[in-house]
Amino acid sequence: MKALLYTPSLPRFFAARALGKRFPKGLLPLRLVEVPLPERQGFVKVKVRLSGVCGSDLALLYGKSPPSISPFFSFPAVLGHEILGEVEGSLVAVNPLLSCTDRGLPPCPRCQQGEEGLCQNVAEGPLAPGMLGYNRDLPGGWGEWVLVRPERLYPIPEGVPEERAVLAEPLAVVVRGLKKLKPWPDEILVLGMGTLGLSALKALRALGFSGKAYAVAKYPRQAERALVFGADRVYGSAKEALLERAKCYRYLLFEGYRGGYEAVIEASGSGAGFRQALTLAQEGGRVLLLGAPGVDWADLSPFWFKEVGLVGSYTYTHEEFAQAVGLLPELKGLEGLIGGIFPLEAWPKALSAKGKALFRPNVS
Ligand SMILES: [Zn+2]
Ligand SMILES: [Zn+2]
Repeated sequence: MKALLYTPSLPRFFAARALGKRFPKGLLPLRLVEVPLPERQGFVKVKVRLSGVCGSDLALLYGKSPPSISPFFSFPAVLGHEILGEVEGSLVAVNPLLSCTDRGLPPCPRCQQGEEGLCQNVAEGPLAPGMLGYNRDLPGGWGEWVLVRPERLYPIPEGVPEERAVLAEPLAVVVRGLKKLKPWPDEILVLGMGTLGLSALKALRALGFSGKAYAVAKYPRQAERALVFGADRVYGSAKEALLERAKCYRYLLFEGYRGGYEAVIEASGSGAGFRQALTLAQEGGRVLLLGAPGVDWADLSPFWFKEVGLVGSYTYTHEEFAQAVGLLPELKGLEGLIGGIFPLEAWPKALSAKGKALFRPNVS
């Protein structure tokens, strides 16, 4: 079958890391190739309808992935962990986790608690390390077919458009994050209005959050959408949001703030966003990390000087994934976040698309 295969190369890794988005797309370590689709006992063949490009895929391609997580991936791999599949004509969301049960291992302590996303055996057993989309043995969604255990397939509710249904996986990360942020305070600020931030806003409202929701959006188009998705107010920058709610104090050359927001959702996925979130959180407030900043510098004093709490969300339990799929019918308009649908051949275009890019590996 046709698939986009990522093969790491150290020289390209360092060049991409140094040049960032200026690195020529054609030289990224991604190739459209024929790969075999291995038979695997207990796994079923699922035809890929759509597969998303995630920020962590881009981080991997551009050499920005945190080095400490690399042993939990295996390459060369067909990327793509946001997967909408088709089985016997019906749409299914694919949960890409490959934890103890998928690996034919007895459940580790975390899997026993149902916390498969925190599985301790993701680099153990007969399967190579990593989940679908980062696994050498099983192809991800940037190819025509995937192999999945039936338990990891979730039927898409009637009437949900494909472009919304393919967002089930990032939505599950959001659903988990919002759950971890409970009890919800009366006001929440969402920093970054990309796919994760806008999904968080929309999901907050769908899950019944009736307090004040504030958003920080970089672009006018994102700001407009934030208002439609339930924000009470949108700021053009983190600084603007900060000055609205916090008082600045100065001593010699230094400045610090008092006040801010009870809860801040960091959805920009950048180191700068993380630093801003820590400043924006008020004394005793909480920060939810939805994005994926890697190695970066931050002033950690807010954790003790303001006693800010930090929670993160990276994956999900079976229940959280199911909840995200169940929420899809209510999230009308979420498909507006899609920036384009591309055949595999057009991958350089997909990787530079504005908004969320999707691959449609099977054209027929
Ligand atoms: Zn992702
Ligand atoms: Zn496990």
